[in-house]
Amino acid sequence: MTNEELRESLLMAPKNGYTRINAQQRAEMESYCKAYMAFMDACKTEREATAWAVAEAEKLGFKALQEGMSVKPGDKIYLNNRGKSIMLAVIGTESLASGINICAAHVDSPRMDLKPNPLYEDSEIAYFKTHYYGGIKKYQWPTVELALHGVVCKKDGTTVTVNIGEDAGDPVLMVSDLLIHLSADQMQKTAAKVIEGEQLNVILGTEPLEGEGSDLVKLHIMKLLNEKYGMVEEDFLSAELNVVPAAKCREVGLDRSLISAYGHDDRVCAYAELVALFGLENPRKTAMCILADKEEIGSVGVSGMQSEAFEYFVETLCDAQNVKLKDCLAASFCLSADVSNAFDPNFAETCDRRNNSRLNYGISICKYTGSRGKGGASDASAEVMRHIRKTFDDAGVIWQIATLGKVDQGGGGTVAAYMANRNIDTVDAGVPVLSMHAPLELVSKLDCYETMLACKAIYLA
Ligand code: MN
Ligand code: MN
Repeated sequence: MTNEELRESLLMAPKNGYTRINAQQRAEMESYCKAYMAFMDACKTEREATAWAVAEAEKLGFKALQEGMSVKPGDKIYLNNRGKSIMLAVIGTESLASGINICAAHVDSPRMDLKPNPLYEDSEIAYFKTHYYGGIKKYQWPTVELALHGVVCKKDGTTVTVNIGEDAGDPVLMVSDLLIHLSADQMQKTAAKVIEGEQLNVILGTEPLEGEGSDLVKLHIMKLLNEKYGMVEEDFLSAELNVVPAAKCREVGLDRSLISAYGHDDRVCAYAELVALFGLENPRKTAMCILADKEEIGSVGVSGMQSEAFEYFVETLCDAQNVKLKDCLAASFCLSADVSNAFDPNFAETCDRRNNSRLNYGISICKYTGSRGKGGASDASAEVMRHIRKTFDDAGVIWQIATLGKVDQGGGGTVAAYMANRNIDTVDAGVPVLSMHAPLELVSKLDCYETMLACKAIYLA
């Protein structure tokens, strides 16, 4: 054998995904990404993504879970967990005793949440106080056009949906930064301190109401909110209002190969697994799609992946087939569909480039996440890695292997550990992202599309 022949038969030779797709796949990729971009513009919070999923699911015949309902092959069932997270299942021809093929992504993203008592006036400028949610570089958020999304639950029992900054005619909100001319001290600070948490105050307005009195700018803002939403200041105490970038999803690059958006992490995987599930009819095993909340702050709380809402859903399905929950979970498989860091040559020193995902090389499989000696990781076994390699290859999915940065450089986690704790074989895989957790993130169209194909392959495995 020549060395060339040996090289071909023995060594890995990853190829850019664009060399591996045909014209038809390319057209499908473009139309998939167009629909994805519309989804991203419509859904910037977990509540909006959940509501979108419920509406689409019902159009396709999914029924809300009910105690005592029959669970037969081909049935489509979902559980809306308090409007903030959703689990959907297409029941397989095999019994639930043979397990569920699960794809689990999250639909919350880093942002700024309003504090419970947010509205104040300082120097005749009205502001909202915020508390950032998830891991952000705080200095990235000033001078970005911002929108306000969320709900206000009033004492009379009504809930008002708030959305300011998305319609073309809407105003936007903004956090200010210090002018460079006076930044001698600021420029000496570390990036963690350049903008501090208590400086992430969102500007709401500057025009005082006519007449006498104090805080007339604040009063003006409260009057506008009252006119639009019928709310009073005390209603902020029972509200969830999120400040997110107002920007729309855009194609990026002269070749339009990338997409910028707020919150690709992790709605890019959430959309992929949802679309893949919606295309299923009569899978062999039951397929389940999970859109979780609170991943960015540790998967905690009633709508996070550690919540027993998952057991409630699966056990209710199992009861209908006289299957024990523990038997179903032990036979299940979970793709923890979450984004990875795409290799960025601008910051090459932070990664091991031999083990890092790259743009346009397809969905990236992460055997383990965690940090410092794999701490906190769900380290997928060799057997699980074989299963996913084979599943993706058999389905013609373009995929790559990934780790999250250099050893001891940092790290991260996903819902994988919480699924694995339930005795479910689990592995992380998802779309590589540039500028993860920045107000706008970048992904490649090809990787988005391959991730949808990957989720489909998992459901059908
Ligand atoms: Mn994520
Ligand atoms: Mn994240």
